[in-house]
Amino acid sequence: MARYTDAVCRLCRREGMKLYLKGERCFKEKCSFETRKGKLPGQHGAGKIKKPTGYALQLREKQKVKRIYGVLEKQFRHYFEKADAKKGVTGHNLLGFLECRLDNVVYRLGFASSRSAARQMVMHGHVLVGGKRVDIPSFQVKPGQAVELGNRAKENDGVKSSVETSAGRGIPKWLSLDATAFKGQVLAAPTREDITLDINEQLIVELYSK
Ligand code: SF4
Repeated sequence: MARYTDAVCRLCRREGMKLYLKGERCFKEKCSFETRKGKLPGQHGAGKIKKPTGYALQLREKQKVKRIYGVLEKQFRHYFEKADAKKGVTGHNLLGFLECRLDNVVYRLGFASSRSAARQMVMHGHVLVGGKRVDIPSFQVKPGQAVELGNRAKENDGVKSSVETSAGRGIPKWLSLDATAFKGQVLAAPTREDITLDINEQLIVELYSK
């Protein structure tokens, strides 16, 4: 499966905001977005940053969302087409599909400190949906379904501390979590208000509708 393997902190600097791609490091002082604030990645990154307008603004918004959720172009386009075909507001549908990906739900429940770590847990078979092992990160979790960790993952110290930290920070209201059993549930499909990321999804809709 194709995925981005280059340094991820440069993506935050490229998009001009913290995308939280590196787990706990993102909350510490050594976050490179904080230490190199105002600089774009690359050789000429220290130059003047131009404010994007028009097409560039739409493109940057799409790239930002792809990078937050760790989705590549082809799959992102596929989500957009599904969102467009579904009843309702296309931009909201798009974010709904991305939020309901199994790797995102695992991350939101706090079982992993980043979406990429969550993706790895899923691919390594540590996650059960409705009691059955699912190893597809893009699997769409439906309202009512339970998501829990397998026994080996439950005994992992890194997972335990991640769950403790995330439980302290709180989880979205469309999910519930039993932290002692490492088990969560999707209570309802996430609404736009539930997705608190700084995203202007309308710009993505405009980009793809050209
Ligand atoms: Fe982005 Fe996290 Fe790297 Fe900071 S530490 S630049 S938030 S990925």
